[in-house]
Amino acid sequence: AKKAGGPLSVLGRDVRVPLVTGGEVTYAALDYAASAPALQRVWDDVAAYAPYYGSVHRGAGHLSQLSTELFEQSRRTVAEFLGCREGDQVVFTRATTDSLNLLSAALPQGTRVFVFETEHHAALLPWRTHDVTYLDAPRSPEAAVATLEAALHGAPAGPKLVCVTGASNVTGEVWPVRELARAAHRHGARLVLDAAQLAPHRPVSLAELEADWVALSGHKLYAPFGAGVLAGRTDWLVQAEPYLAGGGASRRVARGADGGVEVEWHTTAARHEAGSPNVIGAYALAAACRALTEAGFDGLVAREEELLARLRAGLADVPEVRVLSLFGEGADQVGVVSFVVEGWNGSHFAAALSAEYGIGVRDGLFCAHPLLRTLLGREGDAPGECGAPEAAPGSPSPAGEAPALNAVRVSFGAGTPDEHVD
Ligand code: PMP
Repeated sequence: AKKAGGPLSVLGRDVRVPLVTGGEVTYAALDYAASAPALQRVWDDVAAYAPYYGSVHRGAGHLSQLSTELFEQSRRTVAEFLGCREGDQVVFTRATTDSLNLLSAALPQGTRVFVFETEHHAALLPWRTHDVTYLDAPRSPEAAVATLEAALHGAPAGPKLVCVTGASNVTGEVWPVRELARAAHRHGARLVLDAAQLAPHRPVSLAELEADWVALSGHKLYAPFGAGVLAGRTDWLVQAEPYLAGGGASRRVARGADGGVEVEWHTTAARHEAGSPNVIGAYALAAACRALTEAGFDGLVAREEELLARLRAGLADVPEVRVLSLFGEGADQVGVVSFVVEGWNGSHFAAALSAEYGIGVRDGLFCAHPLLRTLLGREGDAPGECGAPEAAPGSPSPAGEAPALNAVRVSFGAGTPDEHVD
């Protein structure tokens, strides 16, 4: 495939958008935390393979064989990218939300789940069918470990799972994953890492972080939409009923003596990949892993820190701006910054940035309502939220209500064009 631009050059860097004030500008996409632009290289790799794709694990035809090989090779690439240990497996899913719901469906009977209230809803909500202990927002990484230790200390015997984010989609702050994993293990619990926001910015290794599972989304990792991953230990996964029942999950199906059907499920974690596999999605995700590995995280982190420092210094010059932080000054942070602007509804502020400057940022409560409530110190409301709107966009707030206190989020990462920075 043709390798256009630098190794981390992204698609869409030349998109022109109209301004309300007249004229047009080059669009500045600064909402990587929602979905990052795909890397040009990933796009090229996918385009080179696209004419040849076929059905995976289903046939002796040349293209089926080629697609099966690329699908399994993609699984190996992702396993390597995520520092999988011997015995760990990669399950391809639709995205992080899907991965965490899959794990929730596979938990042994009686599992107690521990989760901080600060999580993205995708990591907060899937466990509700189990016994869940919700942990209060910690105000430092050390407090996070202490809070978890205290909760696990008094927990009854039996299977336990801790779910924690690697980097917050709101504050960008990095969580002490290895320390939390060690605390979990000291108390016989396992840990799943929500790396949706960490993996695009920092190396994520199951072995080094000592986590049991990791979940992430391709569309935040500079691949196009389509695939996500749940990777890690297999024992619970292979003992559980398949997440989806169907072809691919089943090894043998027969009519039983009682007139029903008897099913033998596959014995690997891939029993949770029922249906025709999304080979293009998996291939794109693996291509992104390869591109990031080859470019190297050192350079990526250095450039991101430089951009982060400029953004933070610029925001500090505006007295009306309050940057949202859970861990406070000096916290380790990826390229995700949220803030409120005194006197402004964040949704109006974001709309003005788009209409007047061609800058795309996120507004709202970022699918992390309990965290926003803690950070804002009051209720906000949720325009710009994930999910299809229930009211027509732009509907006025009910008369007499205080203006909503919504935040604005700026996020960036690999391949953020220089011309977008100022
Ligand atoms: N966890 C975090 C920290 C996220 O930021 C997101 C997406 N905003 C998710 C989980 C869910 O990812 P997806 O929408 O790709 O399933």
